Amino acid sequence: MSKLVQVVLKKGKEKALKNRHPWIFSGAVSRGPWDAGVLPVVEVLDQDGQFLALGYWNPKSQICVRAFSFKHTDIDEAFWANRVAAAIQRRIPLGIAQHANACRLIASEADEIPGLIVDQYDRWLVVQFLTAGIECHRDAILKALIEQLKPEGILSRSDDNTRIKEGLVQDVSLLYGTVPDEILIKEHGYMLSVHPWTGHKTGFYLDQRDARGRMKSYASGKHVLNTFAYTGGFSLAAHLGGAASIDSVDISADAMAQLQLNVARNHQDDGKHHYHTADVFDALRRYEKEGKQWDIIVLDPPKFVHGAASLEKACRGYKDINRLAFNLLRDGGYLFTFSCSGLMSADLFQKVVFSAAVDSNVDGQIIERFQQAPDHPMTLCFPESWYLKGLLVQVRR
Ligand code: SAH
Repeated sequence: MSKLVQVVLKKGKEKALKNRHPWIFSGAVSRGPWDAGVLPVVEVLDQDGQFLALGYWNPKSQICVRAFSFKHTDIDEAFWANRVAAAIQRRIPLGIAQHANACRLIASEADEIPGLIVDQYDRWLVVQFLTAGIECHRDAILKALIEQLKPEGILSRSDDNTRIKEGLVQDVSLLYGTVPDEILIKEHGYMLSVHPWTGHKTGFYLDQRDARGRMKSYASGKHVLNTFAYTGGFSLAAHLGGAASIDSVDISADAMAQLQLNVARNHQDDGKHHYHTADVFDALRRYEKEGKQWDIIVLDPPKFVHGAASLEKACRGYKDINRLAFNLLRDGGYLFTFSCSGLMSADLFQKVVFSAAVDSNVDGQIIERFQQAPDHPMTLCFPESWYLKGLLVQVRR
């Protein structure tokens, strides 16, 4: 093995790595190749010269090393092929393929490939190379994906903001084969159209698959309000579950147009669906003034917390929409409420929902708890990998 560039940590800063947490912040480094630019593999040592991990190096990022191996080993094509194979294997027992043809195959640190997201939509893959370090290993990873999955095409949707922090430009490009503008996916018995080139993230929010499935069980005969609806996953599930009416709200006119097409595609255009292009904060206030009521409300907002400094403001935002939703629910009604902010703990989220209930003068029974679907794994040593939290609360007036 050729000699690797070394990164030596300050005394006492080795603890996180010893606990197999993969991030090293620049402040923890006592000696590193600061002038070397991005390096595909460095060896991380403690002050006594003891080996801690292998990772990639980016001096431009606050997280200057992301570790991908806690054993000394060759980082070659076979290494990445094994990591890709392990991630694919991990999904097989989940049984997702029995009711869906779309799945997250690689979830970055949680699959020991920091910076890489791979989503499978039917016969195509959409990938995000989110860090400069993982870009260095792109060819080996693509080779493994092509050999092991034989996709018809691979699209890079590496246009996430995290790339800017890494000193990278955003990139949307075809990496292999061909990828169509529209891919039809199925889950829980309905079809959804995904636009891999232009949709949010890689095209769809696969992480909410399980919660959408649960909606089917509660919807029979109910009037449902699905806010932050995107292309309508929860709305289609509600209809399939026998809902009496479904109101969907999203700020994006494009998402709302896609939702309407999805409704038609599933032959659900029987007048039960209603579409509202609006800001959810405004819409909920207006509904309150109008005295409207629903039996089920879904609150699935985008990430409100973008850094520790914005946590307090974000809590006020979450509390606001949850309080308004409680006000709009009938006695015995259900609130599906979510936070996808990694920096908001499940505990804190529950407290926010609790204080919203108090302000709305209701109690609520927590019937179910949700988390991201299991093709978005969480690891013990990297708690940041648990980002999606949800509660199903039944309201008692
Ligand atoms: N529940 C969806 C995913 C929601 S993603 C699903 O299951 O697929 C969040 C959505 O919130 C996006 O579609 C975005 O357009 C929308 N959004 C963001 N801010 C909004 C706001 N203030 N009002 C209404 N919609 C908003």
